[in-house]
Amino acid sequence: MGGQKVALVTGANKGIGRGVAEQLAALGTTVFIGARDRRRGEEAAAALRAAGGDVHAVALDVTDPATVLEAARQIEERFGRLDVLVNNAGITGSGQVSPEDAHDQVPSVVDLEMVRAVFETNVVGVITVTNAMLPLLRRSAAPRVVNVSSHAASLTLFSDPDGPFAALLPSAAYSPSKTALNALTVQYANELRKDGILVNAVAPGFVDTDSNDHTGVLTVAEGAAVVVRLATLGADGPTAGFFAGEGPVAW
Ligand code: NDP
Repeated sequence: MGGQKVALVTGANKGIGRGVAEQLAALGTTVFIGARDRRRGEEAAAALRAAGGDVHAVALDVTDPATVLEAARQIEERFGRLDVLVNNAGITGSGQVSPEDAHDQVPSVVDLEMVRAVFETNVVGVITVTNAMLPLLRRSAAPRVVNVSSHAASLTLFSDPDGPFAALLPSAAYSPSKTALNALTVQYANELRKDGILVNAVAPGFVDTDSNDHTGVLTVAEGAAVVVRLATLGADGPTAGFFAGEGPVAW
């Protein structure tokens, strides 16, 4: 087994995931770009290879366990282990979203199919991928799992009537899915602490990507940087935490 680290980033054909893949590759990490569309994944991997990275595409739809198991098999066949898992793939459920426009997520009118789809991707998908990759992570000398969450996950921020989120429309889909992801992060971290696997949630900030129709104010590189920081923690790093670029975020 070589000394080079091996990482998998889900939903890495574009947006924050692609930025994370690019930064990890720049650090010398071998990166698998997980993409549900094989062609888009191959294109992103080719672009990052052209920039000098050791980057490979792997077909992976987090809502399709067969593709996730096949991705794990391919990573095992090529490298025998995984050092970093970034659970980045996510959907807002709305056609946009700048949160102010998320009328279709208001609890009293929300479409249940949308709620199910969002939880299936943002929550169940993370369990599917994490459990498939755990045998490979257990073979790493310094395994790290980063779950890409959101400030919108924070019950503290949302329950403060005078807080920064008071003006946002309530959401029954995206925000609760990220709150559930945070809860999962803590449960996984507690189970895996004894194995030295550090598991943390990250809020990248409001980043300029397709998911908010490019209304975000941070660049992809800025949003990706905090994810990479948690993906490259030293042995004394935190676990069961929730972090943004500015530091810990209230749960
Ligand atoms: P993008 O829409 O730009 O990228 C989302 C990525 O996830 C795409 O690659 C998409 O693939 C992929 N994806 C969606 N569903 C699946 C699936 N079932 N299986 C595999 N991949 C899937 O969004 P962002 O880069 O903005 O978002 C990345 C993460 O960051 C998400 O978890 C999001 O919730 C989170 N986040 C983003 C914020 C922001 O301001 N942008 C703020 C807070 C959190 P495809 O191209 O095929 O659609």
